[in-house]
Amino acid sequence: MAMLIDGKAISQQIKEELKEKALRLKAAGVEITLAVIQVGNDPASSVYVRNKKKGCAYVGIGSVSYELPDETTQEELLTLIRELNQKKEINGILVQLPLPSHIDEDTVIRAIDPKKDVDGFHPQSVGALCIGQPGFLSCTPAGIIQLLKRSGIEIEGKECVVLGRSNIVGKPMAILLLRENATVTVAHSRTRNLKEVIKRADILIAAVGKTKMITSDYIKEGAVVIDVGINRDENGKLCGDVDFESVEPLCSAITPVPGGVGPMTIAMLLNNCMQSAELYA
Ligand code: NAP
Repeated sequence: MAMLIDGKAISQQIKEELKEKALRLKAAGVEITLAVIQVGNDPASSVYVRNKKKGCAYVGIGSVSYELPDETTQEELLTLIRELNQKKEINGILVQLPLPSHIDEDTVIRAIDPKKDVDGFHPQSVGALCIGQPGFLSCTPAGIIQLLKRSGIEIEGKECVVLGRSNIVGKPMAILLLRENATVTVAHSRTRNLKEVIKRADILIAAVGKTKMITSDYIKEGAVVIDVGINRDENGKLCGDVDFESVEPLCSAITPVPGGVGPMTIAMLLNNCMQSAELYA
């Protein structure tokens, strides 16, 4: 039977560590504050924003939120970001994505001061990651590295396949695995012989956004399977990119959905906020 990688427990462990760190910083006179901006009232975004603020409160990070109407112009949003960039008491700025279609996400991400880019999406953060310099790491991939390490799974020298090449998951994931000395293959919608490619994986990271796409015939026996997907099945139940029932008996370790990668993303966001205060406050 595969080991169940418990993202809930591991993220809780990280939050306890961060709580202690926040107390130490507070004792030294350093308060940490995250600014959270949401444009419009997309229900999924509202849940994410609420959970991020809850996470901040739990570890002792302050948060201020800006809930802007759907019709907010790009210029208005950029003006707010520029103001927050200037405010010394704000350590991190998070703009919840997706933004309404009349606002260009790239322009907004570039407007955030890289020293406050706690999502790790700014080109400067991505560039630093690529050349191995210090900077904020994209939260979901950084959380996956923590899941693997804290579960005692060795990455060095392993054959890793990342399915998906998005800027927020697949690409930074591949670079982080490379940093850990894995041999990395990135697969995507144009990959030929996808099944054979994925079957090479000692560690598979599935970040494709397709309900239960990865069935047992994609999996090498003994592989570690990390499921990033957040999808709904035909009954509206939350599920991943991996068909857990068929894959679990074959692999050595696997993350569930929910309760696997998801909780780690917020823990790493909180970690980035802490890092921002430590490095730049
Ligand atoms: P995305 O931007 O839609 O990227 C999906 C990737 O999968 C693309 O690179 C695409 O290839 C590839 N792909 C799509 N269909 C494919 C197929 N049939 N065969 C092979 N590759 C295929 O998605 P994302 O933002 O990376 O998110 C992926 C999933 O992770 C989603 O379910 C999302 O909700 C979830 N997610 C979870 C967390 C978390 O905290 N747990 C965080 C972020 C995202 P092309 O590039 O060729 O189009």
